[in-house]
Amino acid sequence: MELASKNWDVIVIGGGPAGLASAVAAHDRGAKVCVIEREERPGGILKQCIHDGFGVVRFKEKLTGPEYAHRFIEMARERNIPVFLNSFLTDITYKDGMYTLALVNNDEGAFYSNAPAVVMAMGCRERTDRQVFIQGERPSGIMTAGLAQYFINIQGFMPAKKCVILGSGDIGLIMARRLTLEGADVEGVYEILPEPSGLTRNVVQCLEDYNIPLHLSTTVTEVHGKNRVEGVTVAQVENFKPIPGTERYIECDSLILSVGLIPENDIIEPLKVPMDPKTKGPVVDQNMMTMNPGIFSCGNALHVNDLVDFVSESGDIAGEYAAKFSTNGTHKRNLVPVRAEGKVMYVVPQYLDVNTKNKATIYFRSSETFTNARLTVTAEGEKIISKKFRIVKPPEMERVVVDIDKIPEGAGEIIVELKQEEK
Ligand SMILES: Cc1cc2nc3c(=O)[nH]c(=O)nc-3n(C[C@H](O)[C@H](O)[C@H](O)COP(=O)(O)OP(=O)(O)OC[C@H]3O[C@@H](n4cnc5c(N)ncnc54)[C@H](O)[C@@H]3O)c2cc1C
Repeated sequence: MELASKNWDVIVIGGGPAGLASAVAAHDRGAKVCVIEREERPGGILKQCIHDGFGVVRFKEKLTGPEYAHRFIEMARERNIPVFLNSFLTDITYKDGMYTLALVNNDEGAFYSNAPAVVMAMGCRERTDRQVFIQGERPSGIMTAGLAQYFINIQGFMPAKKCVILGSGDIGLIMARRLTLEGADVEGVYEILPEPSGLTRNVVQCLEDYNIPLHLSTTVTEVHGKNRVEGVTVAQVENFKPIPGTERYIECDSLILSVGLIPENDIIEPLKVPMDPKTKGPVVDQNMMTMNPGIFSCGNALHVNDLVDFVSESGDIAGEYAAKFSTNGTHKRNLVPVRAEGKVMYVVPQYLDVNTKNKATIYFRSSETFTNARLTVTAEGEKIISKKFRIVKPPEMERVVVDIDKIPEGAGEIIVELKQEEK
């Protein structure tokens, strides 16, 4: 009963880059920490991301996903941090300062384990066709981009000969290139919005470099085929509604979906952890602690990140403070809300604990693409930060660092605002 019998200071759920970074950080702050991972290997989604481009910020190198994950797996191994594989968290309850986790694995069956601090690093899941209301039959050949990636890169199967990709999220763009390299005919990428929802570098490197057309303000309105996809109908849209007369039939055997990611947090629902409707992740302070003391969140479970470097960064923070929380006991938080204003779509964290005298990283996304953007962080009418961004785009997450000491005492809220600057 190796997992159940220990008194853990911190238990991390999820052995992806966020979970592994948080376990390493917690260990380095003196906590007795373990990682619970449901799959048979650690590394999370990075195991199937064999393209390069990971780690440019953190390691100043262009690594593949498995290479990036390997660095964190090695860090955990060097520290002898137990990573329990094929282990699944099924429930979590709280009583008298202790979380009880209901777990299942082959070695120990169904059992319980306890810790005063738990880091939630379960990543995110892909939205499916059911969530984007595509009409028509339900033949085989409709799959998410992540599943297509799993088939090709992990299982060695080719899931499509001629396909249409719906949605221009990063995974869809990456899969457009991957499918092309593997010999499939990618007819085009269709995006309902007037601009791509993935990173510009992926539009250039994955579509333009391979002459794969990107059709903006266009969507799939119908799927055809009984047993296997035989074709789809696409149409241009206005205000998200198909424009009559613009329909076009495309013959294909697969429809690949890249229509958004949802942070994976169902498991913490019984704890009634307050959630942010914009990020679909928990509301946290700058130490990645949720509104439930002792529950921390990081990586894609907190909010969907575009770069893994920031996933690991949030893991570092969550692990460090989870260790402090469990070993030093809790301190009284003084939470000041952080409000998004102007063209800021969302901010993480949603609160700053002004009783923690650290430098707080605020992550944000703009609600639209524009140039000459000025970001200000204000408290009690005092400007704490003013920073210019040449261009901001919703797919590209930005960050600023706020010195908590600079927040005036008694501040009722902190306002993060993006505006277009006059030239
Ligand atoms: C196709 C694709 C391409 C990408 N390309 C890039 C890129 O080029 N550059 C870049 O920087 N970033 C890229 N990213 C983003 C990056 O991979 C992710 O941001 C990062 O992997 C998220 O890390 P995570 O640890 O939060 O989640 P994940 O990597 O998803 O890990 C979560 C882990 O939690 C486990 N888990 C979940 N629930 C439970 C449970 N109940 N019990 C036990 N274990 C559980 C899962 O099995 C998983 O291993 C890409 C992502 C994808 C999907």
